[in-house]
Amino acid sequence: MMKIGIIGLGLIGGSLAIDLRRQGHQLLGVSRRSETCERAIALNIVDQASPDLASLAEAEVVFLCPPIGAIVPIATALIPHLAPTAVVTDVGSVKQPIVDALAPLWPHFVGGHPMAGTAEQGIEAAQAELFTKQPYVLTPTDATSLHAMEVVSQLVRSLHANLYQCHPTDHDRAVAWISHLPVIVSASLITACMNEPSDTVRQLAQDIASSGFRDTSRVGGGNPELGTMMAQHNRTALLAALTDFRDTLSHSIRHIEQEDWAALALSLQQTQRDRPKFLA
Ligand code: NAP
Repeated sequence: MMKIGIIGLGLIGGSLAIDLRRQGHQLLGVSRRSETCERAIALNIVDQASPDLASLAEAEVVFLCPPIGAIVPIATALIPHLAPTAVVTDVGSVKQPIVDALAPLWPHFVGGHPMAGTAEQGIEAAQAELFTKQPYVLTPTDATSLHAMEVVSQLVRSLHANLYQCHPTDHDRAVAWISHLPVIVSASLITACMNEPSDTVRQLAQDIASSGFRDTSRVGGGNPELGTMMAQHNRTALLAALTDFRDTLSHSIRHIEQEDWAALALSLQQTQRDRPKFLA
């Protein structure tokens, strides 16, 4: 059993702590606000917690789970407090900028991204088994120590998550397609509908919208801060995906303009076959 530090006691950090503590590990929490630390102890999520990074001096593994923009500054401040063999990993939804910044600073760092979440945030949203059967991606580089990879892989497997390993850039390009592009496309759908110039038509559309609109607008109607953060931190990959998406949309517009129903049907037959490949 290990001493495991969790920085950022929110949905992801708290959920990790719950499962790891149930396995018998000792959980040392760090969060920005002392109320959150006290709450995490009261909820039995961690063994101890404080806002002080020095409290992780004895941690064998540390999971960095604050908001994405805080991961690199916190890791940089944490390093002077760590034991030389301590393993550090993060849970940020974008990997390349974080790995670029932290890999040179700590050989026992490995980037990670649990592909699990809920619409809620904060320590109260933490729940057991959030990661069970969900993908958990690790993004080692040539600089990553074998020790770090082994320790983190083992912990991820112990959560019953499905472990994947890839290059940080490939991770960011893949999540741009399946997570970040859909947010912008879905948000654009809502904006375009709201731009309908006729009040009567717009109101009617709102009144009769049903399951199709509910499905296609869901991710565009989510947390605006998270959407903005994704775009900011995965800008290059998201822009590349958006540009390809615009070209694809132009093709569909052309088919409809030219009344090329055969081409449109062919394209929709292909998408009908392809969709299950993303949702196995
Ligand atoms: P969250 O529920 O808001 O949790 C983050 C927690 O970090 C907050 O509760 C906050 O607690 C604490 N915090 C904020 N600033 C901090 C700082 N400077 N130092 C220490 N703690 C700080 O957010 P989350 O959804 O768990 O996301 C956390 C990370 O997981 C992000 O990097 C995100 O990219 C990644 N992630 C999220 C999801 C998802 O679906 N939500 C999925 C995969 C990965 P107090 O301020 O109250 O102390």
